Amino acid sequence: MRTVEEYFGENVFNESVMKSRLPKEAYKAVKEAIDHGKRLTPEVAGVIANEMKQWAIEKGATHYTHWFQPLTGITAEKHDSFIAPQDDGKVIMHFSGKELIQGEPDASSFPSGGIRATFEARGYTAWDPTSFAFIKDGVLCIPTAFCSYNGEALDKKTPLLRSMEAINKQALRIMKIFGKDDVTSIRTTVGPEQEYFLIDKKMYDQRKDLIYTGRTLFGALPPKGQQMEDHYFGVIKPRVQAFMKDLNEELWKLGILATTEHNEVAPAQHELAPIFTTTNIAADHNQLTMEIMQKVARKHDLVCLLHEKPFEGVNGSGKHNNWSISTDTGINLLDPGDTPRANASFLLFLTAVISAVDTYQDLLRLSVASAGNDHRLGANEAPPAIISIFLGSELTEILDSIVEDRPYGSKEKEIMKIGVHVLPRFPKDTTDRNRTSPFAFTGNKFEFRMLGSAASIALANTVLNAAVAEVLSNFADKLEGVSDFESALHDLIKSEITAHQRVLFNGNGYDDSWVAEAEKRGLSNYKTLPDAVKHYLDPKNVELFTKHNVYSEVEMKSRHEIFLEKYCKLLNIEYQTMSVMAKQDILPAVSAYSAELASDIAAIESAGGSADFEKETFAEISADMNAANKSLKALNKLIGELDAIDDYEVLADKIKDEMIPAMDALRANCDKLELETAAEYWPFPTYGELLFGVR
Ligand code: ADP
Ligand code: MG
Repeated sequence: MRTVEEYFGENVFNESVMKSRLPKEAYKAVKEAIDHGKRLTPEVAGVIANEMKQWAIEKGATHYTHWFQPLTGITAEKHDSFIAPQDDGKVIMHFSGKELIQGEPDASSFPSGGIRATFEARGYTAWDPTSFAFIKDGVLCIPTAFCSYNGEALDKKTPLLRSMEAINKQALRIMKIFGKDDVTSIRTTVGPEQEYFLIDKKMYDQRKDLIYTGRTLFGALPPKGQQMEDHYFGVIKPRVQAFMKDLNEELWKLGILATTEHNEVAPAQHELAPIFTTTNIAADHNQLTMEIMQKVARKHDLVCLLHEKPFEGVNGSGKHNNWSISTDTGINLLDPGDTPRANASFLLFLTAVISAVDTYQDLLRLSVASAGNDHRLGANEAPPAIISIFLGSELTEILDSIVEDRPYGSKEKEIMKIGVHVLPRFPKDTTDRNRTSPFAFTGNKFEFRMLGSAASIALANTVLNAAVAEVLSNFADKLEGVSDFESALHDLIKSEITAHQRVLFNGNGYDDSWVAEAEKRGLSNYKTLPDAVKHYLDPKNVELFTKHNVYSEVEMKSRHEIFLEKYCKLLNIEYQTMSVMAKQDILPAVSAYSAELASDIAAIESAGGSADFEKETFAEISADMNAANKSLKALNKLIGELDAIDDYEVLADKIKDEMIPAMDALRANCDKLELETAAEYWPFPTYGELLFGVR
């Protein structure tokens, strides 16, 4: 048996493969491209392409693809073979530098939010050399960005890369101010913790809602849910263990640093966390992880549900986005460090994040908004839709003392001077206790916990990077060239924290009183995607993205459109599916049961018995069937009305305000019927069977 060391990364054209296979000059050029964004010449690209092809063929690959992340949120690939016909009827395996660097997928079916309508229908893909090529199912996959012919980004990777460039540029200015001239590049790092559900494939196949929408649209809670809290970190079942083993192997071969796996709070829910890496690579790896999870699950006759809320009344799935900033000299800028100097720079970056999160809370909220995540934010275990930051008591106390010009702590008499005094150490466990905060400082990184399990992490990180870049740029403007750096720094931190203190909250985010308190503080609380998207094009947001070249205004408008379009289309599938299931599966099943009850009643009574149970159940069911039928008719009428609306903005609001309540009403009627109907009549597997069916 091969060891993990032997096969880890074996399907990746990574730095060590390049180092051993490429000519020195070509390797140097690609390293420059990776580390400093230098462009590759066509000659060098040709050399790399040839070696990459050779390596891929040795590994059994026959095709290559430009692997990209269109705005659908999933990855796209179109396979081309390496074969090139020769005059003698034979073929050679061919792959040129041009094919490596640029591709032209027929992109007309990808969402563009209207961008392409006015320009060229095609788009092109461009190689991102910072994310390594890899082999998946016999195909050499080349991570690429996807743009229109006019250069507008049609994907999630391009703006992410631009945001990384923006924060690199601004954070370098800050490093210069601190005299750190040895730092030449700064990158953000991310470790996303991925939650998911595993259910039995045979049961999945019997539910139209799961097949069409990825979540259950009906289902009464079983007597045992998650109330015993016995699943979290519980013993992993053998079938799940076998799945996890396979999954790890597949991910490791692709160089993905999957490291932690455990059961989550809900039955059938699990989590996988990788070791953190550079943000764009983390985003690529997370896309791959989600894809491979689903594929490996099928091999085990399981289905992996990535939906944010597959089961009502049971915890949903999220993605914790652990985020930090580090230098190429190995300093984590969100690590407090041990010296006054390190502390000072830490406090400045910490302040920048606080200021950015407060100023752009609307964008951060939108960055995690989706039809699926709307069910989760604010419900059960998930953080509320209000953005706030948890710092822990020690750090809060330090910031308070700076704001109020008073000594920190009880023992010290002196007022803490930034850049002179050393901060106390904050042990990780004192900063990691609050699990209800949507944005928590956890010792040397921030954990953004509102992301949905199914979403790409690209957008949330694009917003975070851009917002922090903007604040850093303002800070650098204020600090560059000042004569008394120490006091300028102190004043800046003091005024920024004073201005943004409202976003700091160490209390219980799930407590109802927080909602009222947050409103008093002026924090926004956008409960749904349609609410959040209304602020996307606010002038301050357009200014942020255009100033730092993350999105052009045209690109923002296209995203605005796609947010709404995607929301409406997903909900459309959901309400159509509900209508079909109620009409074709649920009501006929209940009707059959009630017919049996009716004939049972007649039979029992004619035999001289008293059919109390049958009569009472029959009456109950009749009343609830009528109610369900009414709700179904109301839903269908609404479907007719919505079909006539073609403005997504109007449609999204109508869905949120009228359709979702109509769906909830129909569901409530049907879930009640489920509990009244004999089990053998129920047309598809119940929550109990789905949640406890994998043994
Ligand atoms: P938890 O208590 O949530 O399990 P961990 O310390 O185990 O926290 O880390 C969770 C995730 O955070 C992991 O993916 C880890 O790699 C990532 N992480 C740790 N340090 C950093 C960092 N500096 N930048 C980004 N992510 C990080
Ligand atoms: Mg976590």
